[in-house]
Amino acid sequence: MTEEQCIFCKIVKGEIPSMKVYEDKYAIAFLDINPVNPGHTLIVPKNHYTTLTDLPVTLAQHLTMVSWKIMQAVKQEIKPVGFNVINNNGKRAGQLVPHYHIHVIPRFEGDEKRFGMLWVTKKLEEEQMKNLQKGINENISKL
Ligand code: AMP
Ligand code: ZN
Repeated sequence: MTEEQCIFCKIVKGEIPSMKVYEDKYAIAFLDINPVNPGHTLIVPKNHYTTLTDLPVTLAQHLTMVSWKIMQAVKQEIKPVGFNVINNNGKRAGQLVPHYHIHVIPRFEGDEKRFGMLWVTKKLEEEQMKNLQKGINENISKL
């Protein structure tokens, strides 16, 4: 999908309407058109990136700050008992709109227990776990 066809790019440019709740130089936030719960909000960078790993780290930080503000505002507004803050990265992970976005989903007592994919957990061999730990830890120290 090109940026010209991207639905969130169109929302950013104002070419299609959205229920915007926040805007700054780098990001906008608007209500999800198909909310899981009332107050379900999407935080979107103005520039087109597909997944979190495509974003410059400073922009990722900025979007985290915006998510924090949205959570505070939604909390004041509708007093949820909790939040899920999630982002789906890639088709396989359930990403439908290929323009990076963070979901802020307020949770209420008695709502559906789980959203989206059900986790199926695996028990890995200790050696595999240790190799993963070592590899990830080494990679982080090089970032
Ligand atoms: P994801 O599966 O993480 O890509 O989620 C995409 C989200 O975008 C879904 O929750 C949709 O309901 C939402 N969405 C799609 N189109 C629009 C739109 N025009 N305005 C607001 N939200 C939208
Ligand atoms: Zn886009």
